[in-house]
Amino acid sequence: MINVVSEFDNLISDFSRFYILTLLYERPTHGYGIISRFRKRVGKEISPSLVYPFLKQLEQKGLVKHTSKPVGEKKREIFELTRAGRELCIRLFRRFDNLTSTAIQANLEVCDHCGARIYDGGHLELIDGKETTFCCIHCARAYIEEIEEIRLKSPKSSNKEGD
Ligand SMILES: [Zn+2]
Repeated sequence: MINVVSEFDNLISDFSRFYILTLLYERPTHGYGIISRFRKRVGKEISPSLVYPFLKQLEQKGLVKHTSKPVGEKKREIFELTRAGRELCIRLFRRFDNLTSTAIQANLEVCDHCGARIYDGGHLELIDGKETTFCCIHCARAYIEEIEEIRLKSPKSSNKEGD
């Protein structure tokens, strides 16, 4: 039987690793810097037992290198991506970007007037009893004006009474 909880844990730690890479991509940092920025951005704690072994793994693969910087009596290790590491990040970001934008676009509505994709609700207008979506009220008005213009121009071919 599949252990759902540990599957979820794996997923989260994959996300954490991915996010560690994005933090490294922004700038070189020490391990604690990753932990505190992760907390700030994601709103969750990340365990040092995930961060440090992952950094080590990346270093072994030639994706990260570190330099030691003296801080008072102690030394602090600053990690930064190598060129290969940056290239890997760019590939990951691109793939991720494609995936997320596909998901987002699948849920987008399109303005009936200008064809713009609508990210946030848009403007609904009841036209001929049909709910029609526009990106904004201006597009809605322009659309309605156009329809009315077309109706005025078109010859009265209908034999309907009371038209
Ligand atoms: Zn529009």
